[in-house]
Amino acid sequence: MGKPAVPEGPVETAFEKRAARAELLARGPVTTAEPLRFACGLYRVQGRLATTIESLHAERPLSGRLDEDADRFVGHLVDLLRFAAEQGPPAIVADAERRQRERAFQTRSRLLEWWNGDGATAERYLSRALLRPYVEVLAHLRVAPDRLHGPGQCPFCGGGPWIAVRREDADGGDGRSRGTGARRLLGCSLCGAQWPLGRILCPACDEGDPVKLPSFQSERYPAARIEACETCRRYVKSIDLTVDGRAIPEVDDLLSLSMDLWAAGEGFTRIEPGLAGV
Ligand SMILES: [Zn+2]
Ligand SMILES: [Zn+2]
Repeated sequence: MGKPAVPEGPVETAFEKRAARAELLARGPVTTAEPLRFACGLYRVQGRLATTIESLHAERPLSGRLDEDADRFVGHLVDLLRFAAEQGPPAIVADAERRQRERAFQTRSRLLEWWNGDGATAERYLSRALLRPYVEVLAHLRVAPDRLHGPGQCPFCGGGPWIAVRREDADGGDGRSRGTGARRLLGCSLCGAQWPLGRILCPACDEGDPVKLPSFQSERYPAARIEACETCRRYVKSIDLTVDGRAIPEVDDLLSLSMDLWAAGEGFTRIEPGLAGV
């Protein structure tokens, strides 16, 4: 598996690009303006937090060990918690409100639990959102996070793949996907990196039999596809950049939320929830 590609430029710029895309899409004729507006606000708070964490690193380098580094930034999470409590979807508001009342050591231990894979499911969304700026800063600094990497997870940070991307296969290398001549990559929900999924394969269970890997499309969202696995009943949503090169997959994902609801109705579970929490 190759080195994951990390977005170029300052960390806050990467968050701002996503925010601007979400803002633009929310103004269009969409049924999902609300989650897009929330995503836009979340990216902006995360971008500011990333800048703060970068300045902490400039004072003294981050170690990549969350148990050491968290002490330095937990005090800066208040803005993100306030935003989530005031504007978040119902599923995360209660978690955000409770964390606002907690002391710093409790905030820290809740994040460490999630980091080590033991966090409660209901806390997953917010833990991931709170830690993304930290991990994305580490990615830009090329400081490897000290975290277990399970199979199918991001080779840099162990984050879950929340999106798949299809793009033109420029180098003719591996990653060719079913009949499209496009390259298939997975996008990390924690550090923003992308890494190739080298062949027809379920990222969750390694199923490689094409007959058991159906994909579903909707005429309404030509760039989106549900790539499912009948063996483990999980799926990843892919965004085809050859349909719209301006798409930012994790943001454009929110346009086709109805496809996720359809997949859930068919008994499939998304490998890693997207920004809407499903
Ligand atoms: Zn990652
Ligand atoms: Zn599978």
